[in-house]
Amino acid sequence: MLQDKDRIFTNLYGLHDPYLKGARARGDWDNTAAILARGRDALIQEMKDSGLRGRGGAGFPTGLKWSFMPKQSDRPCYLVVNADESEPGTCKDRDIIRHDPHKLVEGCLVAGFAMGACAAYIYIRGEFFNESVVLQRAIDEAYAAGLIGKNACGSGYDFDVFLHRGAGAYICGEETALIESLEGKKGMPRMKPPFPAGVGLYGCPSTVNNVESIAVAPTIFRRGASWFTSFGRPNNTGTKLFCISGHVNQPCNVEEELGIPLRELIDRYAGGVRGGWDNLLAVIPGGSSVPLIPKSICDDVLMDFDSLRNVRSGLGTAAVIVMDKSTDVIKAIARLSKFYMHESCGQCTPCREGTGWMWRVMTRMVEGRATPQEIDTLDQVTRQVEGHTICALGDAAAWPVQGLIRHFRPVMEERIAAYKARSTTRLAAE
Ligand code: SF4
Repeated sequence: MLQDKDRIFTNLYGLHDPYLKGARARGDWDNTAAILARGRDALIQEMKDSGLRGRGGAGFPTGLKWSFMPKQSDRPCYLVVNADESEPGTCKDRDIIRHDPHKLVEGCLVAGFAMGACAAYIYIRGEFFNESVVLQRAIDEAYAAGLIGKNACGSGYDFDVFLHRGAGAYICGEETALIESLEGKKGMPRMKPPFPAGVGLYGCPSTVNNVESIAVAPTIFRRGASWFTSFGRPNNTGTKLFCISGHVNQPCNVEEELGIPLRELIDRYAGGVRGGWDNLLAVIPGGSSVPLIPKSICDDVLMDFDSLRNVRSGLGTAAVIVMDKSTDVIKAIARLSKFYMHESCGQCTPCREGTGWMWRVMTRMVEGRATPQEIDTLDQVTRQVEGHTICALGDAAAWPVQGLIRHFRPVMEERIAAYKARSTTRLAAE
């Protein structure tokens, strides 16, 4: 179990001052110039050594991502921070911004320096109005104190931070759609390659990182990669914010080490499953885009990238959505299908057509108004969408349905049989 002293984020500690005075009292901005003085290569190496994997969902190694930025460039380079947190069940970046905005602003400086960026653009979800006010105040404070801007922290390095509010589109959380939106265009994902590190914001080398990935960077540089790797397991190191929601007694956000057993996470921090662990039906362990896992897997699974991948799910954003036995699991997944249909940008056919198709069939599956063979057809359609689209939204739409079929096929078949029996009885009565 993680000790308080090893938690990076102070949002667990109750009410405190999120602004500069409070942040400094907690150690933020403490001799940041000394971190920068280590040089770009040393910082990237330290980040690689920390094993930090992107906290936005994909889990790509952060240090490696930074190293893709050019060493020399005749164009400006940018850090883009993805604060468009819209994944259902996920509310961790919101808490960082609310309670620890200076960790993010300082993170922008040290990460931006490491990758040779001259500025950071923070793209914040439009609905996070109050958070944008908090973050803008923190940015303004940092400018006024000389921590960013010209000669940031007295390092001789110039670095700007800009805050940009989105307009409520889930797809703008996809890195290239986010870049398009920042440029003032419709938020639609770009084909890759070219990747943002070559052609990103305004056609310049850019790296897009999640809020949590950037906000942990200053602490990793202060306490060292070996401190960070002392938590978790190999290839799944460090602490992580988990968002626990659904049928638990105390929904919460909590910071724990990667690899904590799912059951321990729910019991220790969320007051357990409503009605007790035996009342658990299933859990979506990483935000709505990953397949759900039934109780039999939840009993033993560890909360990290590799463990969840081994059970054909994923850590995703580490948003744990708990469903007890009162849940209509087909209806729950059908609701997600509707979400993805609504949020599809529509530019590629498998996603545009497939998400609508999946939702319509799922709607019938909720009632049982289908044939058992259609379960296979539905599964085949998800396979036609998965991996055949420009961005990962297609996969995100397909995987929850695949998880439902994989683990709850008998429930779907029972629903179909019950509908058929009702129809037969009704016809006989007529
Ligand atoms: Fe748009 Fe969907 Fe294609 Fe992504 S997968 S680019 S959201 S249509």
